[in-house]
Order: sequence, then C-alpha cells, then structure tokens
Amino acid sequence: MGEMNKEIKKYLESLLPASSASVAMLENDAEANHVPIIDRSSMHMINLILKIKQPEKILEIGTAIGYSALRMLEGAEHADIITIEKDDTRYHEAISNIQAWQRDHQIQVIAGDAAEVMQELAESKKQFDVIFMDAAKGQYQTYFDLADKMLTSGGILITDNVLFRGMVYSAEEAPKKYKTLVRKLKAYNEMLMNHPDYHTSIIPMDDGVSISYKR
Ligand code: SAM
Repeated sequence: MGEMNKEIKKYLESLLPASSASVAMLENDAEANHVPIIDRSSMHMINLILKIKQPEKILEIGTAIGYSALRMLEGAEHADIITIEKDDTRYHEAISNIQAWQRDHQIQVIAGDAAEVMQELAESKKQFDVIFMDAAKGQYQTYFDLADKMLTSGGILITDNVLFRGMVYSAEEAPKKYKTLVRKLKAYNEMLMNHPDYHTSIIPMDDGVSISYKR
C-alpha cells in the first residue's frame, strides 16, 4: 500500500466511532493472539450494507473468534447467522465469545471445512440473503459456486481480501510463495465483475472488499 493510501486509511479509521468496551476486548484479544479479523473500516461498511439490506439469514465463511459475526448484528439486529470455522481452537473461542454476548440464539457456529459444510447446507436447500466470505482465499471460486446456489435473488455477496495486500493490482511484485494465490484472486475478481447474474464493485478499502448484488 502506498504512503498516500496508508494516510487515507489512518484518516478514515480516525473518523470511525470508538469501539465499545466489549468490541474492543475482542479486537485486543485477536491482536494479542495474532488472529486475523476484518479491518474496522471494512466492518463499518459491511454494517452499512446490512442496515440497508436488513437480511434475515446470513452465512459467513471464516468465523475466527466470532468478531465479525457478532458485529454483523449491529447492522442486522434480528438476523440469524450461520458461520463456519475449521480451526478447533478458534471454533471453541467463538462459541465462548458468542455465549458471553448472549447471542447463541442468533449465531450458529459450524466446525468444519467450509466447502464441505457449504455443500451440506446447499443440499439441505438453505437460502441466505447475505453471504460473507472471509476464509481460504485460494478457494473463493469453489465457495462462490456453492454460495451462488444458496444466495437469494436480490441477495448480497461480500468477499474480503480480494486485493490481497495490493499484490492483486501489482501482481508482478508478488513474492513467489503468493503467486498462485494472487493468480486465483485475479481470476476470481474478473469472474465476479463479468458475471451476468451479479453487479459487483470492488472497494479498494483495507485489503479490498467486493460487494456483489445478485439480480
Ligand atoms: N471473519 C472473521 C472476522 O473478521 O472476525 C475472520 C476470519 S479469518 C480472516 C479466516 C478464518 O477462516 C480463520 O479463522 C481460518 O481458520 C478459517 N479458515 C481457513 N480455511 C478454512 C476452511 N477451509 N474452512 C473453514 N474455515 C477456514
């Protein structure tokens, strides 16, 4: 990220409302334990979309410790959320945070590999008004194919990290170990932008968030 972008990011973050004590606890916990959670500006924007959309059912891919799932209820107070996490320690931490927030009647965490769990959800004909993808960036195309079966018409698909540390728009600078991932993300972005059933914008905020409306 260039210097100017860094300054803009800092400036925009300085304008965000301060985190409540309970939100700050999760943010500090994630930072202390090196758990990746969504950036605060992106979270704020997702909540704006949720306030407009007012979804009843949300599917999240990648729970980590439950931060974004819990915070999505700020935007969609009455929604039911299903969220998938494959890491056992994080899964248990998410369950414990969700219970502490007394939101276990609204948020169901499913342990397992996202593609497998999504396949089962699709087979049981589950439908969602919003799907938020935030796990295993190399698998986004697989997740998209499954998400497409479950997203209602008029639904919103949100994908985090689509610009992956700026490497997607300056792909030639990507270190060797990220080249395959960057290639997959570029293909994913192109697929989304050209998909006849979706209207997509990629927002160059934080790590890049795409917002897609399903016609
Ligand atoms: N959405 C969370 C938030 O903002 O609070 C952060 C999610 S974190 C960026 C991505 C999570 O996806 C990690 O906790 C990781 O263990 C999980 N993950 C990675 N690959 C996965 C897979 N194949 N199936 C399910 N979860 C996966």
